[in-house]
Amino acid sequence: MSNLTTLTSALQKAGMRLTPQRTAICELLVKSPDHPTAAAIYETLKPHFSSLSLATVYNTLDTLIGLGAVNALGHAGDDKVHYDADTEPHVNLACLSCSRIVDIPSEHITHLDSEITTATGYKLLGARVLYYGLCPACQKKQSKTSKNSEVFSSASRTK
Ligand SMILES: [Zn+2]
Ligand SMILES: [Zn+2]
Repeated sequence: MSNLTTLTSALQKAGMRLTPQRTAICELLVKSPDHPTAAAIYETLKPHFSSLSLATVYNTLDTLIGLGAVNALGHAGDDKVHYDADTEPHVNLACLSCSRIVDIPSEHITHLDSEITTATGYKLLGARVLYYGLCPACQKKQSKTSKNSEVFSSASRTK
């Protein structure tokens, strides 16, 4: 798990000035368990930093990703990139309906990492292990409305 110092010192190493805004972005990434999007980070911090721009959020995230301190996950049914400051090997499980991403620790992933490094000699900087599906709550919601959507979904499947 990346901690605040890992992220802030990564930014400094990259030659970025450690502004209160950038520190706050790092803090939010470390504290938030819910894999925020850039827009969510911006909206959370904007009330506290009126001078914060979305560009600052993006270039801070890009720098952290480049250094392997943060992983960019794919989208979770919402077409937005989600960010993960937990760089320890784990499985991310996304619900395509409510766009929530939860962490699943798995020994298999830890083994997979060492298998990859041993086989290739690569220094791994990150990984995106993203499984996706429907969470139990959304499955319940869908089964309630499935009578209405059945015709539509079977039609789109045959395309
Ligand atoms: Zn869901
Ligand atoms: Zn995660």
